[in-house]
Amino acid sequence: MNKKILQLTERHVAATYGRYPIALVKGKGMHVWDASGNRYLDFVAGVAVVSLGHCHPKIVQAIRKQAGQLIHVSNWFHIEPQARLAAEITRLSFGNKVFFCNSGTEANEGAIKLARRFYADRGQRNKSEIITTYNAFHGRTLGAMSATPQDKIQKGFGPLVPGFKYVPFDDLAAMKKALTAKTCAVMVEPIQGESGVNIPSKTYLKELRKLCTERDILLILDEIQTGFGRTGHLFAYQAFGAKPDIMTLAKGLGAGVPIGALVMKNTVAQSLGPGTHGSTFGGNPLVCAAALAAVAIVSQKDFLKNVRETGKYFFSRLKELSRKFPIIREVRGMGLMLAIDIDGSSAAVAKDCMEQGILVNSIQPGTLRFIPPLIVSQKNIDALIRVLTLSLSKVT
Ligand SMILES: *Cc1c(COP(=O)(O)O)cnc(C)c1O
Repeated sequence: MNKKILQLTERHVAATYGRYPIALVKGKGMHVWDASGNRYLDFVAGVAVVSLGHCHPKIVQAIRKQAGQLIHVSNWFHIEPQARLAAEITRLSFGNKVFFCNSGTEANEGAIKLARRFYADRGQRNKSEIITTYNAFHGRTLGAMSATPQDKIQKGFGPLVPGFKYVPFDDLAAMKKALTAKTCAVMVEPIQGESGVNIPSKTYLKELRKLCTERDILLILDEIQTGFGRTGHLFAYQAFGAKPDIMTLAKGLGAGVPIGALVMKNTVAQSLGPGTHGSTFGGNPLVCAAALAAVAIVSQKDFLKNVRETGKYFFSRLKELSRKFPIIREVRGMGLMLAIDIDGSSAAVAKDCMEQGILVNSIQPGTLRFIPPLIVSQKNIDALIRVLTLSLSKVT
Protein backbone atom coordinates (compact mmCIF):
# COMPACT_ATOMS: atom_id res chain seq x y z
CA MET A 1 0.00 0.00 0.00
CA ASN A 2 2.67 2.48 1.05
CA LYS A 3 4.76 1.58 -1.97
CA LYS A 4 2.05 2.33 -4.51
CA ILE A 5 1.42 5.77 -3.01
CA LEU A 6 5.15 6.49 -2.88
CA GLN A 7 5.47 5.55 -6.54
CA LEU A 8 2.60 7.79 -7.58
CA THR A 9 4.06 10.69 -5.64
CA GLU A 10 7.45 10.19 -7.18
CA ARG A 11 6.04 10.05 -10.68
CA HIS A 12 3.44 12.77 -10.54
CA VAL A 13 3.94 15.18 -7.65
CA ALA A 14 6.43 18.03 -7.86
CA ALA A 15 9.42 17.08 -5.77
CA THR A 16 9.38 20.23 -3.59
CA TYR A 17 9.42 18.31 -0.32
CA GLY A 18 11.91 15.89 1.13
CA ARG A 19 9.39 13.27 2.21
CA TYR A 20 9.79 10.36 4.60
CA PRO A 21 9.01 7.05 2.88
CA ILE A 22 5.64 6.60 4.54
CA ALA A 23 2.14 7.60 3.50
CA LEU A 24 -0.16 8.68 6.31
CA VAL A 25 -3.73 7.67 5.73
CA LYS A 26 -5.58 7.97 9.02
CA GLY A 27 -5.47 10.01 12.20
CA LYS A 28 -7.13 10.10 15.58
CA GLY A 29 -6.15 12.34 18.46
CA MET A 30 -2.39 12.13 19.02
CA HIS A 31 -1.92 9.29 16.54
CA VAL A 32 -1.60 8.77 12.78
CA TRP A 33 -1.44 5.54 10.81
CA ASP A 34 0.43 4.76 7.61
CA ALA A 35 -0.89 2.76 4.69
CA SER A 36 0.73 -0.40 6.02
CA GLY A 37 -1.13 -0.05 9.29
CA ASN A 38 1.76 1.20 11.44
CA ARG A 39 0.77 3.66 14.16
CA TYR A 40 2.77 6.77 15.08
CA LEU A 41 2.57 9.20 17.96
CA ASP A 42 2.54 12.60 16.30
CA PHE A 43 4.78 15.40 17.61
CA VAL A 44 4.66 17.27 14.29
CA ALA A 45 0.91 17.87 14.05
CA GLY A 46 1.01 18.76 10.37
CA VAL A 47 3.52 21.50 11.27
CA ALA A 48 1.68 23.01 14.24
CA VAL A 49 -1.62 22.89 12.36
CA VAL A 50 -3.59 20.05 13.91
CA SER A 51 -3.80 21.83 17.23
CA LEU A 52 -6.66 19.75 18.62
CA GLY A 53 -5.31 16.43 17.47
CA HIS A 54 -6.37 14.49 14.42
CA CYS A 55 -10.05 14.37 13.53
CA HIS A 56 -11.24 15.98 16.75
CA PRO A 57 -14.94 15.05 17.00
CA LYS A 58 -16.06 18.69 17.37
CA ILE A 59 -14.13 19.73 14.26
CA VAL A 60 -15.35 16.75 12.26
CA GLN A 61 -18.91 17.50 13.34
CA ALA A 62 -18.64 21.17 12.39
CA ILE A 63 -17.19 20.32 8.97
CA ARG A 64 -19.83 17.64 8.32
CA LYS A 65 -22.66 19.96 9.28
CA GLN A 66 -21.36 22.88 7.20
CA ALA A 67 -20.54 20.63 4.22
CA GLY A 68 -24.15 19.52 4.14
CA GLN A 69 -25.41 23.09 4.33
CA LEU A 70 -23.13 25.34 2.27
CA ILE A 71 -19.51 24.78 1.25
CA HIS A 72 -18.63 27.85 -0.74
CA VAL A 73 -20.11 31.13 -1.86
CA SER A 74 -18.50 34.30 -3.13
CA ASN A 75 -17.39 37.08 -0.86
CA TRP A 76 -19.81 39.26 -2.79
CA PHE A 77 -22.31 37.95 -0.27
CA HIS A 78 -22.32 37.89 3.50
CA ILE A 79 -21.13 34.61 4.99
CA GLU A 80 -22.40 33.68 8.43
CA PRO A 81 -19.53 31.50 9.73
CA GLN A 82 -17.03 34.11 8.44
CA ALA A 83 -18.81 36.95 10.22
CA ARG A 84 -19.03 34.94 13.45
CA LEU A 85 -15.38 33.87 13.26
CA ALA A 86 -14.24 37.47 12.73
CA ALA A 87 -16.33 38.50 15.74
CA GLU A 88 -14.65 35.82 17.85
CA ILE A 89 -11.11 36.69 16.73
CA THR A 90 -11.64 40.39 17.42
CA ARG A 91 -13.28 39.64 20.77
CA LEU A 92 -10.25 37.58 21.78
CA SER A 93 -7.51 39.86 20.42
CA PHE A 94 -6.41 43.48 20.02
CA GLY A 95 -7.94 43.53 16.53
CA ASN A 96 -11.08 45.26 15.27
CA LYS A 97 -11.21 43.80 11.76
CA VAL A 98 -10.21 40.56 10.06
CA PHE A 99 -9.42 39.68 6.44
CA PHE A 100 -9.51 35.98 5.63
CA CYS A 101 -7.26 34.13 3.22
CA ASN A 102 -6.07 30.55 2.79
CA SER A 103 -2.55 30.28 4.13
CA GLY A 104 0.17 31.90 6.17
CA THR A 105 2.10 33.30 3.27
CA GLU A 106 -1.06 34.93 1.93
CA ALA A 107 -1.78 36.51 5.29
CA ASN A 108 1.71 38.01 5.25
CA GLU A 109 1.27 39.23 1.67
CA GLY A 110 -1.83 41.00 2.89
CA ALA A 111 0.04 42.52 5.81
CA ILE A 112 2.82 43.79 3.53
CA LYS A 113 0.35 45.33 1.09
CA LEU A 114 -1.69 46.86 3.89
CA ALA A 115 1.33 48.49 5.56
CA ARG A 116 2.30 50.17 2.29
CA ARG A 117 -1.23 51.20 1.42
CA PHE A 118 -1.79 52.65 4.90
CA TYR A 119 0.92 55.28 4.40
CA ALA A 120 0.14 55.75 0.70
CA ASP A 121 -3.40 56.67 1.74
CA ARG A 122 -1.93 59.38 3.93
CA GLY A 123 0.14 60.78 1.08
CA GLN A 124 3.37 59.09 2.20
CA ARG A 125 4.02 56.91 -0.82
CA ASN A 126 7.74 56.75 -0.08
CA LYS A 127 7.12 55.25 3.32
CA SER A 128 7.17 51.73 1.93
CA GLU A 129 10.18 49.97 3.42
CA ILE A 130 9.66 46.94 5.66
CA ILE A 131 12.21 45.63 8.10
CA THR A 132 12.34 41.94 8.92
CA THR A 133 14.84 39.79 10.77
CA TYR A 134 17.46 37.22 9.81
CA ASN A 135 16.35 33.60 10.16
CA ALA A 136 12.73 34.68 9.96
CA PHE A 137 10.24 32.65 7.98
CA HIS A 138 7.28 34.52 6.54
CA GLY A 139 6.38 32.35 3.56
CA ARG A 140 7.17 31.58 -0.04
CA THR A 141 5.17 33.90 -2.29
CA LEU A 142 7.16 36.80 -3.72
CA GLY A 143 6.43 39.37 -1.03
CA ALA A 144 6.61 36.97 1.90
CA MET A 145 9.74 35.38 0.43
CA SER A 146 11.35 38.81 0.06
CA ALA A 147 10.60 39.29 3.76
CA THR A 148 12.37 35.99 4.50
CA PRO A 149 16.13 36.55 4.40
CA GLN A 150 17.25 32.97 3.98
CA ASP A 151 19.35 31.91 1.04
CA LYS A 152 17.71 28.51 0.79
CA ILE A 153 14.32 30.19 0.34
CA GLN A 154 15.28 33.11 -1.94
CA LYS A 155 18.06 31.64 -4.07
CA GLY A 156 17.38 31.71 -7.81
CA PHE A 157 14.02 33.45 -7.51
CA GLY A 158 15.25 37.02 -7.88
CA PRO A 159 14.75 39.81 -8.38
CA LEU A 160 13.09 40.07 -5.01
CA VAL A 161 10.40 42.61 -4.22
CA PRO A 162 12.24 45.84 -3.42
CA GLY A 163 11.85 47.64 -0.12
CA PHE A 164 12.89 44.99 2.40
CA LYS A 165 15.72 45.43 4.89
CA TYR A 166 17.00 42.83 7.31
CA VAL A 167 18.46 43.02 10.80
CA PRO A 168 19.39 40.37 13.38
CA PHE A 169 16.51 39.04 15.49
CA ASP A 170 16.32 40.14 19.11
CA ASP A 171 18.67 43.05 18.45
CA LEU A 172 16.95 46.31 19.26
CA ALA A 173 19.99 48.48 18.55
CA ALA A 174 20.27 47.06 15.03
CA MET A 175 16.57 47.64 14.47
CA LYS A 176 16.83 51.22 15.67
CA LYS A 177 19.69 51.87 13.29
CA ALA A 178 17.81 50.39 10.34
CA LEU A 179 14.68 52.54 10.74
CA THR A 180 14.40 55.52 8.43
CA ALA A 181 11.69 57.98 7.40
CA LYS A 182 10.91 55.46 4.64
CA THR A 183 10.13 52.61 7.02
CA CYS A 184 6.43 51.72 7.05
CA ALA A 185 6.57 48.52 9.05
CA VAL A 186 8.59 46.18 11.19
CA MET A 187 7.58 42.55 10.79
CA VAL A 188 8.69 39.78 13.17
CA GLU A 189 7.62 36.45 14.56
CA PRO A 190 7.23 36.65 18.35
CA ILE A 191 9.20 33.39 18.41
CA GLN A 192 10.99 32.32 15.23
CA GLY A 193 9.51 28.92 14.47
CA GLU A 194 10.98 27.48 11.29
CA SER A 195 14.51 28.48 12.20
CA GLY A 196 14.28 26.41 15.36
CA VAL A 197 12.16 28.05 18.08
CA ASN A 198 14.24 31.18 18.71
CA ILE A 199 12.80 32.96 21.72
CA PRO A 200 13.71 36.65 22.06
CA SER A 201 14.60 38.32 25.32
CA LYS A 202 11.59 39.20 27.46
CA THR A 203 11.52 42.89 26.61
CA TYR A 204 12.31 42.72 22.87
CA LEU A 205 8.76 42.90 21.55
CA LYS A 206 7.71 45.47 24.12
CA GLU A 207 10.63 47.70 23.13
CA LEU A 208 9.87 47.15 19.47
CA ARG A 209 6.30 48.25 20.11
CA LYS A 210 7.52 51.41 21.80
CA LEU A 211 9.97 52.14 19.02
CA CYS A 212 7.34 51.68 16.32
CA THR A 213 4.89 53.97 18.11
CA GLU A 214 7.52 56.67 18.58
CA ARG A 215 8.59 56.57 14.94
CA ASP A 216 5.11 56.18 13.39
CA ILE A 217 5.81 52.70 12.05
CA LEU A 218 3.40 49.76 11.97
CA LEU A 219 4.27 46.68 13.98
CA ILE A 220 3.33 43.46 12.19
CA LEU A 221 3.49 40.28 14.25
CA ASP A 222 3.56 37.04 12.32
CA GLU A 223 1.72 34.72 14.72
CA ILE A 224 1.11 32.10 12.08
CA GLN A 225 2.91 29.52 14.19
CA THR A 226 2.78 31.07 17.68
CA GLY A 227 -0.92 32.00 17.51
CA PHE A 228 -3.94 30.11 18.73
CA GLY A 229 -2.64 28.62 21.91
CA ARG A 230 0.69 27.22 20.76
CA THR A 231 2.69 29.12 23.40
CA GLY A 232 0.16 28.54 26.18
CA HIS A 233 -1.38 31.94 25.50
CA LEU A 234 -4.03 32.51 22.88
CA PHE A 235 -1.56 34.82 21.13
CA ALA A 236 2.13 35.16 21.93
CA TYR A 237 1.91 38.97 21.90
CA GLN A 238 -0.18 38.71 25.06
CA ALA A 239 2.62 36.88 26.85
CA PHE A 240 5.18 39.46 25.73
CA GLY A 241 2.93 42.44 26.48
CA ALA A 242 3.25 44.00 23.02
CA LYS A 243 0.15 44.69 20.96
CA PRO A 244 0.79 44.79 17.22
CA ASP A 245 -1.05 46.94 14.67
CA ILE A 246 -1.38 43.97 12.36
CA MET A 247 -1.21 40.26 13.19
CA THR A 248 -1.16 37.32 10.80
CA LEU A 249 -2.59 33.90 11.63
CA ALA A 250 -2.89 30.55 9.88
CA LYS A 251 -1.58 27.11 10.94
CA GLY A 252 -3.51 26.22 14.12
CA LEU A 253 -6.43 28.55 13.40
CA GLY A 254 -8.45 26.00 11.47
CA ALA A 255 -7.30 22.88 13.35
CA GLY A 256 -6.42 21.30 10.00
CA VAL A 257 -8.35 23.15 7.32
CA PRO A 258 -6.53 25.74 5.18
CA ILE A 259 -7.29 29.19 6.55
CA GLY A 260 -5.26 32.33 7.12
CA ALA A 261 -6.21 35.63 8.67
CA LEU A 262 -5.02 39.19 8.78
CA VAL A 263 -6.07 40.84 12.03
CA MET A 264 -5.85 44.59 12.36
CA LYS A 265 -6.86 47.68 14.25
CA ASN A 266 -9.62 49.91 12.87
CA THR A 267 -7.20 52.70 12.00
CA VAL A 268 -5.25 50.38 9.74
CA ALA A 269 -8.28 48.50 8.42
CA GLN A 270 -9.55 51.71 6.84
CA SER A 271 -6.96 51.17 4.12
CA LEU A 272 -8.58 47.90 3.09
CA GLY A 273 -11.66 49.35 1.44
CA PRO A 274 -13.74 47.73 -1.32
CA GLY A 275 -11.60 46.43 -4.17
CA THR A 276 -8.23 46.89 -2.46
CA HIS A 277 -7.62 43.22 -1.69
CA GLY A 278 -9.42 39.93 -1.98
CA SER A 279 -9.46 36.15 -2.17
CA THR A 280 -11.91 33.84 -3.91
CA PHE A 281 -11.71 31.13 -1.27
CA GLY A 282 -10.80 33.35 1.67
CA GLY A 283 -13.11 32.87 4.63
CA ASN A 284 -15.44 30.43 2.93
CA PRO A 285 -18.23 28.82 4.98
CA LEU A 286 -16.55 25.42 5.33
CA VAL A 287 -13.19 26.51 6.71
CA CYS A 288 -14.74 29.19 8.92
CA ALA A 289 -17.12 26.68 10.46
CA ALA A 290 -14.15 24.45 11.30
CA ALA A 291 -12.16 27.38 12.69
CA LEU A 292 -15.14 28.54 14.78
CA ALA A 293 -15.31 25.12 16.40
CA ALA A 294 -11.54 25.19 17.00
CA VAL A 295 -11.56 28.68 18.48
CA ALA A 296 -14.35 27.72 20.89
CA ILE A 297 -12.14 24.98 22.34
CA VAL A 298 -8.72 26.64 22.26
CA SER A 299 -9.89 29.90 23.82
CA GLN A 300 -11.12 28.21 26.99
CA LYS A 301 -9.07 29.28 30.01
CA ASP A 302 -8.56 25.72 31.21
CA PHE A 303 -7.39 24.63 27.78
CA LEU A 304 -4.64 27.25 27.70
CA LYS A 305 -3.70 26.59 31.32
CA ASN A 306 -3.29 22.95 30.41
CA VAL A 307 -1.06 23.87 27.45
CA ARG A 308 1.16 25.90 29.79
CA GLU A 309 1.35 23.10 32.35
CA THR A 310 1.98 20.36 29.80
CA GLY A 311 4.57 22.62 28.15
CA LYS A 312 6.36 23.06 31.47
CA TYR A 313 6.38 19.32 32.05
CA PHE A 314 7.68 18.74 28.52
CA PHE A 315 10.42 21.33 29.01
CA SER A 316 11.52 19.78 32.31
CA ARG A 317 11.66 16.29 30.79
CA LEU A 318 13.81 17.60 27.92
CA LYS A 319 16.08 19.36 30.44
CA GLU A 320 16.42 16.10 32.32
CA LEU A 321 17.34 14.39 29.05
CA SER A 322 19.97 17.04 28.36
CA ARG A 323 21.64 16.23 31.67
CA LYS A 324 21.82 12.60 30.63
CA PHE A 325 23.07 13.40 27.14
CA PRO A 326 25.61 16.21 26.99
CA ILE A 327 25.28 16.24 23.19
CA ILE A 328 22.06 18.15 23.83
CA ARG A 329 23.45 21.66 23.83
CA GLU A 330 20.27 23.57 24.54
CA VAL A 331 16.60 23.13 25.38
CA ARG A 332 14.25 25.94 24.37
CA GLY A 333 10.52 26.31 24.56
CA MET A 334 7.37 28.17 25.39
CA GLY A 335 4.12 26.31 25.83
CA LEU A 336 4.04 23.48 23.33
CA MET A 337 6.57 24.95 20.94
CA LEU A 338 9.89 23.40 21.92
CA ALA A 339 13.26 22.50 20.48
CA ILE A 340 16.58 20.94 21.38
CA ASP A 341 19.94 21.56 19.75
CA ILE A 342 22.20 18.53 19.48
CA ASP A 343 25.81 18.05 18.47
CA GLY A 344 25.09 15.46 15.85
CA SER A 345 22.59 14.59 13.19
CA SER A 346 19.10 15.62 14.23
CA ALA A 347 17.89 14.10 10.97
CA ALA A 348 19.25 10.70 12.06
CA VAL A 349 17.52 11.04 15.43
CA ALA A 350 14.22 12.00 13.79
CA LYS A 351 14.47 9.04 11.42
CA ASP A 352 15.18 6.68 14.30
CA CYS A 353 12.27 8.08 16.33
CA MET A 354 10.02 7.49 13.34
CA GLU A 355 11.17 3.89 13.11
CA GLN A 356 10.25 3.59 16.79
CA GLY A 357 6.79 5.00 16.08
CA ILE A 358 7.08 8.68 16.96
CA LEU A 359 7.05 11.56 14.51
CA VAL A 360 9.37 14.43 15.37
CA ASN A 361 10.74 17.17 13.16
CA SER A 362 14.38 17.91 12.42
CA ILE A 363 13.82 21.53 11.52
CA GLN A 364 17.45 22.61 11.10
CA PRO A 365 20.63 20.55 10.92
CA GLY A 366 21.21 19.90 14.62
CA THR A 367 17.79 21.04 15.83
CA LEU A 368 14.78 18.90 16.72
CA ARG A 369 11.47 20.74 17.06
CA PHE A 370 8.42 19.55 18.98
CA ILE A 371 5.08 21.07 18.03
CA PRO A 372 2.55 18.39 19.02
CA PRO A 373 -1.21 18.78 19.08
CA LEU A 374 -2.09 20.93 22.10
CA ILE A 375 -3.95 17.98 23.60
CA VAL A 376 -0.70 16.05 24.12
CA SER A 377 -0.62 14.29 27.52
CA GLN A 378 2.20 13.77 30.00
CA LYS A 379 2.02 10.08 29.11
CA ASN A 380 2.61 10.92 25.43
CA ILE A 381 5.58 13.05 26.45
CA ASP A 382 6.98 10.22 28.58
CA ALA A 383 6.72 7.94 25.54
CA LEU A 384 8.65 10.45 23.46
CA ILE A 385 11.36 10.80 26.09
CA ARG A 386 11.78 7.00 26.21
CA VAL A 387 12.17 6.85 22.44
CA LEU A 388 14.51 9.86 22.36
CA THR A 389 16.65 8.24 25.06
CA LEU A 390 17.07 5.16 22.88
CA SER A 391 17.74 7.20 19.73
CA LEU A 392 20.27 9.46 21.39
CA SER A 393 22.08 6.45 22.87
CA LYS A 394 22.49 5.16 19.31
CA VAL A 395 23.93 8.34 17.85
CA THR A 396 26.31 9.06 20.73
C1 LIG B 1 4.28 28.37 8.35
C2 LIG B 1 4.61 29.80 8.48
C3 LIG B 1 4.36 30.71 7.44
C4 LIG B 1 3.86 30.29 6.08
O1 LIG B 1 2.60 29.70 6.15
P1 LIG B 1 2.06 28.85 4.89
O2 LIG B 1 0.66 28.49 5.30
O3 LIG B 1 2.95 27.68 4.72
O4 LIG B 1 2.07 29.73 3.72
C5 LIG B 1 4.64 32.04 7.67
N1 LIG B 1 5.11 32.47 8.85
C6 LIG B 1 5.34 31.63 9.87
C7 LIG B 1 5.83 32.15 11.17
C8 LIG B 1 5.11 30.26 9.72
O5 LIG B 1 5.39 29.42 10.72
